[in-house]
Amino acid sequence: MADAKKPRMEKRGLMERLNAGEIVIGDGGYVFALEKRGYVKAGPWTPEAAVEFPDAVRQLAREFLRAGSDVMQAFTFYGSDDKLENRGNVSQEKHTGAVVNSAACQIAKEVADEGNALVAGGVSQTPNYLSGSGKEAVQEQFRKQAEVFIKNDVDFLIAEYFEHVEEAVWAVEELKKTGKPVAATLCIGPEGDLHGVSAGDCAVQLAKAGADVVGLNCHFGPVKTLEAIRLMKAAMDKEGLKPFLMTQPLGFKTPDVGKQGFIDLPEFPFGLEPRILTRWDCHKYAREAYEIGVRYIGACCGMEPYHVRAIAEELSPERGCTPAGSQKHGMWGDGLRQHTKPWVRARARRDYWENLKPASGRPDCPVLAKPDGWGVTQGDKDLLQKTEATTDAELQELFQK
Ligand SMILES: [Zn+2]
Repeated sequence: MADAKKPRMEKRGLMERLNAGEIVIGDGGYVFALEKRGYVKAGPWTPEAAVEFPDAVRQLAREFLRAGSDVMQAFTFYGSDDKLENRGNVSQEKHTGAVVNSAACQIAKEVADEGNALVAGGVSQTPNYLSGSGKEAVQEQFRKQAEVFIKNDVDFLIAEYFEHVEEAVWAVEELKKTGKPVAATLCIGPEGDLHGVSAGDCAVQLAKAGADVVGLNCHFGPVKTLEAIRLMKAAMDKEGLKPFLMTQPLGFKTPDVGKQGFIDLPEFPFGLEPRILTRWDCHKYAREAYEIGVRYIGACCGMEPYHVRAIAEELSPERGCTPAGSQKHGMWGDGLRQHTKPWVRARARRDYWENLKPASGRPDCPVLAKPDGWGVTQGDKDLLQKTEATTDAELQELFQK
């Protein structure tokens, strides 16, 4: 790449790119990918790997860059102090939020500079909110993270993974004080947030709070995510609000989930493999998102670099380029023309992969699941968070429910 070593100062910012009508491709699900690779613990899902295993985080970021990501999101998901020390998570003893967030920013900056990518710092929902600690205590968590992002001069900020729009609005308010562009995404579906606010009203609230980009991430696969973003767009259009739209869905199919998304699935989080999207599903997602008007098109849990490459390949006519990773990937299976077996060479065509219905290969499996539906959300005593680990007695109580 000719401009690979461009100094960061010449880089065009997020709003410049979006205002010019360009597509911005996000990166993918660091938490889930790094959990599978052995660097993140499922349960707390906190990002101390940025300090403990920087090479692992850096390598994954490089893979997303090579796949076509225009954004290197610092690995700061659940990186607030109150989350790092929640429920017996020991990481806070060794690493404060400031240390973890700073290390994550350094990695993101380093990899972004290897291409022409933007660096984003992100905040996400907090235990303080779930416990009803109030606006000041919640915003204090965001403020501490934002200070680190500003010190590291990230290009823009993301408030992501909020189940309650109220907390997301508090995050946007706090992040806007930095003067950086702010993208805000909820982890909700077409049914709206967990307090019963409709998807459309959620979007309007975020836009009115000043979010430059509004959308969705996580909890739902592309189909439901796009259904919800349509509702959000329609509601904002009605109010004359025109922020840019953003989607970063799961890399899993979720036709059977309710309001809480994939958290309610019996397979969450250790048996989700049969639901993984193919790269061809990602082509479809990218095209539909683009047609709806989404211009920040990215990915979340379950999406690996090859999924992002598929997004970039689908949108290559609009973008006028293919990612570096496409050097090893013929479009629509074209590389298979080099295969030794003739029946596999016969699959070197678009219509074959576009119309394929992959078999699950799992005998005796139901097509859909029966999701949990406890209906417990912020304001309920069962959602009070604490720093101590969950006891055996407390677990027994939950097993009985
Ligand atoms: Zn996710």
